[in-house]
Amino acid sequence: MDKRVYNFAAGPSTLPLEVLTEARDEFLNFRGTGMSVTEISHRDKTYEEVVKDAEALVRELLNVPDDYCVIFVQGGASTQFAAVPLNLMHSGKADYIVTGNFAKKAWQEGQIYGEAKKIGDSSDKIYTYIPDVDSLGYTDGADYVHITSNNTIFGSRYDKFPVCKAPLVADMSSEIFSREINVADFGVIYAGAQKNLAPAGVTIVIAKRALIGNPLKICPTMLKWKVQDENGSLYNTPPAFSIYMADLVLRNLKKKGGVKAINEINVYKAGLLYDFIDNSKLYKNNVEKKYRSIMNVPFVTGSDELDAKFVAEAKKAGLVSLKGHRLVGGMRASIYNAMPVEGVQALIAFMKKFEVENG
Ligand SMILES: *Cc1c(COP(=O)(O)O)cnc(C)c1O
Repeated sequence: MDKRVYNFAAGPSTLPLEVLTEARDEFLNFRGTGMSVTEISHRDKTYEEVVKDAEALVRELLNVPDDYCVIFVQGGASTQFAAVPLNLMHSGKADYIVTGNFAKKAWQEGQIYGEAKKIGDSSDKIYTYIPDVDSLGYTDGADYVHITSNNTIFGSRYDKFPVCKAPLVADMSSEIFSREINVADFGVIYAGAQKNLAPAGVTIVIAKRALIGNPLKICPTMLKWKVQDENGSLYNTPPAFSIYMADLVLRNLKKKGGVKAINEINVYKAGLLYDFIDNSKLYKNNVEKKYRSIMNVPFVTGSDELDAKFVAEAKKAGLVSLKGHRLVGGMRASIYNAMPVEGVQALIAFMKKFEVENG
């Protein structure tokens, strides 16, 4: 390839071209320091400004209330599967709604620390829907209820969130900043950055401060949200480059009009693709319509052979990483914030041509 492709990877995934260009242009001499951002001390004022700016932008773009912390941590969303119980599971009881593979992993991790109860499960239909959140048996006195708001592998998402007594904890890794949310409805939100925000290496945690003051005795210092909050995400060496990139992406998002504006584009992009799939004779998406993700769109032709041919020919046409997750098969188009409308249009044009030739 001698030019940039349309990259539909689920994560790490495509980033805005303007951001990549900006990072390239200041890579050798970061804002007049004569050093690269990858060389500078994380205690340097110029770098501290980056972390402060990134935090301020998260607060602004998601309207984060003042009594919530916004921290940048390491270890990916998977480490937060443990951090959640280690910070919150005081009574030893929590509820989990299992709507996909990552939700299941979070639930399994929760079981290490206490009574992690699965109160909802959509595995009976291969995670193609979200259980009705109003009719689940929430546990009295649970420390939290854990959900995965968008299921990256199966392409489903919550159309509305549970309203429950216990604080709601949401893994938003594959959709944060893609649609408007009311942060105050959640106790904790966390998200690995490599889907919709930055290169891999940093995870955002947004947590109500009243909930995080008393982590379990066995909680490692590095996993204590309170410690990270008190130290402005600089308790130890942070994933400096990833936070810097997140800051550039957030500035870019603000310039584009913020979450509301990007959501309108996301809804439009996903609509184009789902409409095409629903009207095609060859392709099928199996997720119940009202739970369809606007970030991850899986589809199949019904023939493994044809699916493999699709993925290979699409790659030759500059449409890459369309192979579905091994648990689902077929194809998956991840169309995160940074995927331009033109990328989705190019994919649909290719799908049409492929259907004519192979249908
Ligand atoms: C990718 C993903 C994860 C895993 O993230 P890591 O950073 O690799 O640990 C967890 N949850 C969801 C919803 C994801 O999409």
